[in-house]
Amino acid sequence: MLYETFEKIYALERQGRKIIKLNVGEPDWGVPESSVESAFCSIKNHEDKYASARGQLSLREKVAKLHNCSSENVVISTGSKIAIFSAMKSLLGPKDNAIILSPYWQAYELIARSLGAGTKILPLKQESKWKPNIGALEDAVDKNTKLIILNSPSNPTSVAIDHSEENKMLKFAQEHGITVLADDAYRGLSFQALPDRGLSDNLVIANTFSKTFGMTGWRIGYAVAHESLAKKLVEFNQITTTNVPVFIQQAAQTALEQKGKISKIASAKCEKRANLAKKSLSKELEFVFPDAGFYIFPKLPRGIDSVKFSDKLLEKGVAVVPGPAFGNYPNNFRLSLAAGEETLKIAFEAVNKTLGEM
Ligand code: PLP
Repeated sequence: MLYETFEKIYALERQGRKIIKLNVGEPDWGVPESSVESAFCSIKNHEDKYASARGQLSLREKVAKLHNCSSENVVISTGSKIAIFSAMKSLLGPKDNAIILSPYWQAYELIARSLGAGTKILPLKQESKWKPNIGALEDAVDKNTKLIILNSPSNPTSVAIDHSEENKMLKFAQEHGITVLADDAYRGLSFQALPDRGLSDNLVIANTFSKTFGMTGWRIGYAVAHESLAKKLVEFNQITTTNVPVFIQQAAQTALEQKGKISKIASAKCEKRANLAKKSLSKELEFVFPDAGFYIFPKLPRGIDSVKFSDKLLEKGVAVVPGPAFGNYPNNFRLSLAAGEETLKIAFEAVNKTLGEM
């Protein structure tokens, strides 16, 4: 469904139409200038050869410091998608299953399927502010459950799990020999700054430079895991991507050096836009106010079908993603606030107008 939306947009663009793309999860803020400089400098220094599949030690040390662990626990990957894929591949056999809290980023399900593993979808409710209930988690687990995927703050709701529930989840997983894969892609964009997680035995952390630092096209992320799993992730890099180019790792290091500042500015921008959405969008559209990042996941009133709504909105030049791309959500849609305020205002007007016509 995510990819179908792109095809529809390309077809319209081929006809010369201009589309406001609020379907993409790509920050509109640029890569930090100092990171660009670092990459240039590194290329000029010919740091352009094969390198360690684990990642540069100096970068791993910086990441390790964030997560209160050793550099041996850190593996640099070609975007966090590769870290997530290789962690799932290492942890899930064909008879195993992973629990996915829904609504969810579709890649988790597609990865599990590609590995021949199963998934158990645990639906969360908008009325409960998309917050998980540990009791429901207990019911969903069976003897083949090896993994719980925790994406907090989440794509597409941008809601973060409460700290106490998260602790209960981690404790529950530990007691049942289940690993938690924490996909923290949006944690650096939290409105109330959240510290990076510390490593523990049954936890794997995946994170990316794509969102906070706007480095989507640079393809760099990482995993933090206990040493035996980290070794498997390194092996996976060795037989696939080998290493993230050194000049990109240099740029990532420079970005990390200013993480606090960059994160604060980007999060404030996101919060301002979320407030603008709240103020400008029709009150008929209910959404849980985000805790982080740039997505909202509003529910359409009167049982309006989100695919029909999204198609009609696209005719007006605004692209969003219909709810079924994130699970069983026929009446919700995901709207990305990763655009300038003037663009957002035009888009919100189109959203309200489309709603009025349905
Ligand atoms: N995790 C989530 C929840 C995402 O939404 C995305 C990208 O949209 C990623 C991971 C992947 O990020 P990367 O660019 O590092 O592969």
